[in-house]
Amino acid sequence: MLKKVLIANRGEIAVRIIRACAEMGIRSVAIYTEADRYGLHVKRADEAYSLGSDPIAGYLDPRRIVSLARQLGCDGIHPGYGFLSENDEFARLCEEKGIKFIGPKSDVILKMGDKTQARNSMRAAGVPVTPGSEGNLADLDEAIALAEEIGYPVMLKATSGGGGRGIRRCDSEAELRTQYPRVISEATKAFGSAEVFLEKCIVNPKHIEVQILADSQGNVVHLYERDCSIQRRNQKLIEIAPSPQLTPEQRNYIGELAVKAAQAVGYENAGTVEFLLTGNQVYFMEMNTRVQVEHTITEQITGVDVVQEQLRVASGLPLSYRQEDIQFRGYALQFRINAEDPKNDFLPSFGRVTHYYAPGGPGVRVDTAIYTGYDIPPYYDSMCLKLIVWALKWEDAIDRGQRALDDMHLQGIKTTANYYQQILRHPDFQAAEFNTSFVPDHPELMNYSEKKHPTEVALAIATALAAHAGW
Ligand code: ADP
Ligand code: ADP
Ligand code: MG
Repeated sequence: MLKKVLIANRGEIAVRIIRACAEMGIRSVAIYTEADRYGLHVKRADEAYSLGSDPIAGYLDPRRIVSLARQLGCDGIHPGYGFLSENDEFARLCEEKGIKFIGPKSDVILKMGDKTQARNSMRAAGVPVTPGSEGNLADLDEAIALAEEIGYPVMLKATSGGGGRGIRRCDSEAELRTQYPRVISEATKAFGSAEVFLEKCIVNPKHIEVQILADSQGNVVHLYERDCSIQRRNQKLIEIAPSPQLTPEQRNYIGELAVKAAQAVGYENAGTVEFLLTGNQVYFMEMNTRVQVEHTITEQITGVDVVQEQLRVASGLPLSYRQEDIQFRGYALQFRINAEDPKNDFLPSFGRVTHYYAPGGPGVRVDTAIYTGYDIPPYYDSMCLKLIVWALKWEDAIDRGQRALDDMHLQGIKTTANYYQQILRHPDFQAAEFNTSFVPDHPELMNYSEKKHPTEVALAIATALAAHAGW
């Protein structure tokens, strides 16, 4: 088993990994930049080291991180999600320096992180892929010719994209002409690569993804699927496991496709295969070669600790489960609580958390790195807390979500919590009938009044009484 692991990340996912290490008797090392000096990962890890004053550069510096890991006698590095997690050069550097990168081999990251290469590998393996490019687009003329061939609408995508950025739908040649330079510029800025490709736009699809685990002995299992169709601008807001919209036949078919995809590229460690589903048609979209934000809901329905399995297989041990050992039970929902103002076009709302009261009770889990008095720095993701609920029945999971969102109290910043309650109240959501157009199709859900939490009300009353009494 690995003995000492450096966590090349911050925020809630760093804390999540530290917790897994603690439960497995692995020593954890946090890294941080000055903006994160008061971060929870710094407090919770066994050791913590500063990477300097720039808020981001330290987290993105492979050489510095690997050399620190060596100096400290770490035998593994966990990259989390975002940052260097899908950087094949970072993984390669770890391999060269004899430190276990907790993820797949660098050549697999390279192959699957490049969306056009991934599509080609999947085609070769007999996994159905959205119709479109077989390589990157050379120029606008090639894009127009290909769009003609597959038919509009099409999706123009950044080859090394992620996090929902660098994707534009084009309904006509005119739109393709306008969007082409925009996507190239966005891709260059966000991902440092100008490569783009094009695929058929699947209209109103469901986003269904499968969690897989693979060990170094060649065993691959899937942990069933997640439904991430509740999205805004191609970014996930609420995730659900299992999908309440699949038949058992579809579920088994998609699970087996994901295993086939992983086997085809010699995958090792945890990964997610993302598909689009329309009617009975399933298309491979991309593979994320890392732990995902929403691994939590899979853990809640299967009881498998995904991060512990990552650490196990990185240590060279076999998976703890065979496919037939993996059962799922009930429904889990995850709400990505973002420090954003839904009423102001989801403008980020960073700043001090003046008061935080965590939701709790049966079937509730919170993964976060915030606490009362914490200043959310403006340099990183706006996601500040993941609220996860579980219940045996779909209806009960929704009620529990409402209740837990009510329970939670986050003062000082604006969040998406009340907006999510609106989604839970919608009859189509409750009937488990939704696709990726749900959010754009229901702008009216933004019309709600901010509720006051009981402690805020009590405080207001006390202040008013005090003023009245002349205290
Ligand atoms: P998930 O795929 O786990 O559901 P997201 O797509 O929301 O999660 O991404 C999680 C985090 O990782 C976000 O901060 C996102 O910006 C970042 N991220 C994802 N892919 C990339 C990428 N290719 N390059 C840079 N950052 C990325
Ligand atoms: P990222 O790497 O940013 O996660 P994805 O390729 O996974 O990008 O796409 C993100 C989201 O964009 C999907 O979940 C889906 O809602 C939408 N999308 C992507 N490709 C298509 C497509 N071909 N047709 C329809 N929607 C798509
Ligand atoms: Mg994706």
